[in-house]
Amino acid sequence: MEATSASLTSCFPQMRVATLTTPDDFDGWRDAARALAGARVPPSEVVWQVGDQPTDLFGDEAVVETPAPFRVPRPFVDLARTVVLHADPERFALLYTLLTRVLAQPKLIDDRADPLVRRLDEMAKAVRRDIHKMRAFVRFREVTDDDGQERYVAWFEPEHHIVRENARFFVNRFTGMRWSILTPELSIHWDGEALTEGPGASKADAPDGDPIEEVWKTYYSSIFNPARLKVGAMLKEMPRKYWKNMPETALVGSLIAGAQAREVAMIEKARTAPGSNIAGAWEALREEAMGCTRCDLYKHATQVVFGEGPVDAKLMFVGEQPGDQEDQAGRPFVGPAGQVFDRAVAQAGIDRAEVYVTNAVKHFKFEQRGPRRIHAKPGTGEIEACRWWIGQERALVKPQVTVALGATAARSLLGRAVTIGRERSKPIPLPDGGEGWITVHPSYLLRLPDKVQAEEEFARFVEDLRMAAARVS
Ligand code: SF4
Repeated sequence: MEATSASLTSCFPQMRVATLTTPDDFDGWRDAARALAGARVPPSEVVWQVGDQPTDLFGDEAVVETPAPFRVPRPFVDLARTVVLHADPERFALLYTLLTRVLAQPKLIDDRADPLVRRLDEMAKAVRRDIHKMRAFVRFREVTDDDGQERYVAWFEPEHHIVRENARFFVNRFTGMRWSILTPELSIHWDGEALTEGPGASKADAPDGDPIEEVWKTYYSSIFNPARLKVGAMLKEMPRKYWKNMPETALVGSLIAGAQAREVAMIEKARTAPGSNIAGAWEALREEAMGCTRCDLYKHATQVVFGEGPVDAKLMFVGEQPGDQEDQAGRPFVGPAGQVFDRAVAQAGIDRAEVYVTNAVKHFKFEQRGPRRIHAKPGTGEIEACRWWIGQERALVKPQVTVALGATAARSLLGRAVTIGRERSKPIPLPDGGEGWITVHPSYLLRLPDKVQAEEEFARFVEDLRMAAARVS
């Protein structure tokens, strides 16, 4: 997919036309917006258009703007990158308006009370939902190419301009297959090595019939969510417009039966299949988590903090949730508790670079008190909602030993309430064949007021980690 750039043309004395190459041309919008803002062109004097769409204002005197250098807050860039994919024709103009205001007032981007910020935020959410739906509801059918080779073809009708954005996800998920996804706006094709684009298609261009069981099962392993065990939620997640492409909607009842076991089996199959791409599958999983809205925590946190570490790690550590610093950095275990953890891991003789670290809950839950964000304990519903992600991470990484740090992680790992004092420091067989260990969370050590007790507890924590690591063959 090529990076694109916009052109700027003046038409009426006070009007500029910014022409973008494609409806999802973020690079083009950014270049044009940078030039316009650098030249202090007010939003009311800019017309945005895509391709050669006709506009009455179009003139023929090209104007080359020399952008003055400036910086914009990172959250604005992230917002713009997503909103550009929205179908609303006003999106480019709205973003440019916000850009000019953010340049004058950088903190505006955090002001959810501002109607424009709120509107763009809602548009970004709609785009993320559409991205998720495409990942969830694409169904491939097998066809034979003109050259006699098998190819898998799917038809999908997105609401927004998300097809290019989603292409890498499907490449990672189906690296070893030849496939095409047809949509009204454009089609994308993967031949096992290169991704190409073609023009839009109609439903009549896509093959009919049952989807290929094995293909969609493999795919389904990446999107199946125990939340769908609730039939109401499952059907709500599957808008009717997609049902015609999804014969399995008639099989909801049987899908529900034994769903958890099926999920484990599918992931195992994807993991061990010849040519399987665990790193790619992990990356696709991480990307999908970025748009997660399974519980309300995504609404206030900065971002999903996904796990990190080698995807073939034998030892996995699960914490509670990201803290304030992790939320901003987008990485687990980098705040004060993470530093205690690092020290303990080193003393236990464990190489941090060889372990996978993650959290039971992937979004930061907090209470705002003045300028401070105070940690709040995740509720059972949030732990349960997020258990799906940790299950997927464990199914891909397949650690021999998983150490749960604290009660939230232990609950997530075992699926039940756990009393740390009773179940600490001993191996616990897990249903998938791995072994679980329970110990305290490093933040507990930070809260101990008594120095002597804190040192004793730290030593005990180190000993727990040492014992758990010793179980790894
Ligand atoms: Fe999704 Fe977990 Fe975030 Fe809830 S906390 S929105 S389940 S990633």
